[in-house]
Amino acid sequence: MNRSIEKAMARPYALSRAELAELLALEDPAELFSAACEVKRRYTGKAVALRGLIEFGNICAKDCYYCGIRKSNASVKRYRLAEDDIVRMAKWAYEWKYGSIVLQSGEMESEENTLFVERVLRRVAEVSGGELGVTISAGEQSEAVYRRWLAAGAHRYLLRIETSNPELYARLHPADHSFERRVECLRALKRLGYQLGSGVMTGLPGQTLDDLARDVEFFRELDLDMIGMGPYIPHRDTPLGAGMTFTPADAAAQLRLGLKMIAVTRLYLHDVNIAAATALQALDDSGREQGLMAGANVIMPNVTDTEYRSNYQLYENKPCLDENASKCRNCLNWRVLSVGEEINWGVRGDPVHFRKGSV
Ligand code: SF4
Repeated sequence: MNRSIEKAMARPYALSRAELAELLALEDPAELFSAACEVKRRYTGKAVALRGLIEFGNICAKDCYYCGIRKSNASVKRYRLAEDDIVRMAKWAYEWKYGSIVLQSGEMESEENTLFVERVLRRVAEVSGGELGVTISAGEQSEAVYRRWLAAGAHRYLLRIETSNPELYARLHPADHSFERRVECLRALKRLGYQLGSGVMTGLPGQTLDDLARDVEFFRELDLDMIGMGPYIPHRDTPLGAGMTFTPADAAAQLRLGLKMIAVTRLYLHDVNIAAATALQALDDSGREQGLMAGANVIMPNVTDTEYRSNYQLYENKPCLDENASKCRNCLNWRVLSVGEEINWGVRGDPVHFRKGSV
């Protein structure tokens, strides 16, 4: 067996940055994937946790150069779901035993938005008797806002850093999007006691394997409980993706790198939750299942009403835009079983890392 893989399987945080980068460069990653899957199963067995994803609004104050719903993209039809609709979708997810939901939207900092999310959280807690795990993913906010949402019923917060390299971050964002503020938000969320999730994009233009190895170390520094990573897929209506060609060979390469990043992250951190992102499925129909086999243990099926989904495309070719939530549920069950794992229906699926306490 590859010596770095052997070392990484024996204990978390065992590899140097150079060793992490070496694993990311492996030509034949079969051994890497099976080792990562084995480590995952030590902590969570073959059980896959679900997060029913509710994309409750696509209005965003930010202008990230890679994102299809950035504020300057005038071709997007903007929406925010009504409170009643969000609560109905959450109730559906609860009754169909998803165990947890993610409430995701573009970023808006206003008292009106804070109150809206607060009301939704209280009502979701009410309809599920407080049993449903709730993640918020609504960008950078003040510590006071994070505190209010926690008090209203959120348990987890997902705020992707996209890259831990400040120079690369600066190339991906306008000058007024601050890397430091994002890191400070992540630290505030941790202080407040959220289960904390973050992650990066893999295969960004100009990103090196050393950057990705550094990202994995950064996950540890932030003491993350949950990791969500997605391969970069260009969107033509963005400054980064405009005019970029994306061939099937590019898709295969992006998938492969995304899977290797999942495996290396699992081997380094061991006990966190790692999502098999929907972007993997955009690259290959079985991409999410391949993610499970490379060390991921969470899937985030979309439970938003289908009429809104085409307006929430951070990248192009997003799958399952027209599959309603019931159809999606059956499809997902079959897909997970097909790789020898099973869905942990009705269970919140809190990260083992969080339950154990900080490192
Ligand atoms: S990545 Fe997030 S913050 Fe940036 S433009 Fe897209 S939705 Fe807004």
